[in-house]
Amino acid sequence: MTSTESPIQAVTHPFVFRLLQVRRSTWLTPHMVRITLEGDALDGFRSDAADDGARLFFPPDPTDASWVPTVEGTQVVFSDEHPKPPNHEYTPRRYDPVAGELDIDFVVHGEGPASNWAANAKPGHYLGISGPRRSRVIAGNVDWYLLAGDDTGLPSIARRLEELPAGTPAIAVLEVANAEEEQPIESEADLQLIWVHRDGAAGDISDLLANAISTLTFPEGDVFAWAAGEASSIKAVRRHLVDRGIPLPRMRMTGYWKRSIPDWDHHIPVEES
Ligand SMILES: Cc1cc2nc3c(=O)[nH]c(=O)nc-3n(C[C@H](O)[C@H](O)[C@H](O)COP(=O)(O)OP(=O)(O)OC[C@H]3O[C@@H](n4cnc5c(N)ncnc54)[C@H](O)[C@@H]3O)c2cc1C
Repeated sequence: MTSTESPIQAVTHPFVFRLLQVRRSTWLTPHMVRITLEGDALDGFRSDAADDGARLFFPPDPTDASWVPTVEGTQVVFSDEHPKPPNHEYTPRRYDPVAGELDIDFVVHGEGPASNWAANAKPGHYLGISGPRRSRVIAGNVDWYLLAGDDTGLPSIARRLEELPAGTPAIAVLEVANAEEEQPIESEADLQLIWVHRDGAAGDISDLLANAISTLTFPEGDVFAWAAGEASSIKAVRRHLVDRGIPLPRMRMTGYWKRSIPDWDHHIPVEES
C-alpha cells in the first residue's frame, strides 16, 4: 500500500525575464542537442526541482536582441514592432552558478521553431527565458520512484536520477527512437533502467511506455510516479497506473507535446506548467 498524500510542495519564484546567449552547442545523440547558455542575466536563476519548466523565447533572427519585452507583474509585454516570438516550455537540465552556465537539452524533431532554433544554434545567438515560475519539490516521504518519459521527458528524468540520494529505489522507463538515441544516465540511485525503442515497434507507439510499465513488478511502499512525453502516451501511462491502484496524489503525469499539434505546451494551464 502507498500513502494517498501528495509528497509535492510548490515553491514560487519571482518572475524574471532573461536574455541569454549561446555559449556552446553539444550534440548528445543524432536528435538531441545540449545548448549551453550564458549571460549576466543568469545571476539569481533558480530551479529547485527536476521537473521545472522555463519558457524559452526563440527570436526569428537569433542574432537580434532588439525584440526584448518589458515585464509587467508576471507578464512579458511585447511591442507592435517586435511581437511575441515563438515560445515553448523546456527543462533546466543543469544550472552551474559558478561557471555561469545553464544547459537545456532539445529534441531536434525537425518541424517547429524551437527544434529549428536549437539545431542551428551558434555561440552568441540570443534566447529569451522566463521562469521557472515555481518548483514542485519533493517534501513528503517517497520510498521509491517510477519515472517514465520519451525524449522530451528524458532531461527531467536524467536530472532527477542525478539528484536522487544514493541507494534510493527508482525505476526509469525511457522511450527513444532507437539505440542511437540512448544516453548515458548518471545516478547513485538503486536504479532499474529500461529503454524502449519506437523504431520497429509493433502496434500503437502511444502504448509503448504503458506496455513496458505493465510488465514490471512494483516495490512496496510510498511511490512517486512521474511521467512526461507525448500526450496520448502519457494518458495511457496514467490510465495504467490508476488501474494498478496508484492514487492520483502520488503521481504527476504531463503531456509535454502532442503529435501533429503545434504549441501543445501553450494549452497546459499555468498552474500545471
Ligand atoms: C514543462 C515542460 C518541459 C519540457 N522540457 C523539454 C525538454 O527539456 N526538451 C525538449 O526537447 N522538449 C521539452 N518539452 C517539450 C517541448 O516544449 C515541445 O516539444 C515543443 O512543442 C517543441 O516546440 P517546437 O517549436 O519544436 O514544435 P511545435 O511548433 O510546438 O510543433 C510543431 C510540430 O512538431 C511536433 N512536435 C513537437 N514536439 C515534438 C517532439 N518532441 N517530437 C516529435 N514531434 C514533435 C508537433 O506535434 C507539431 O506537429 C517540454 C514541455 C513542457 C511542458
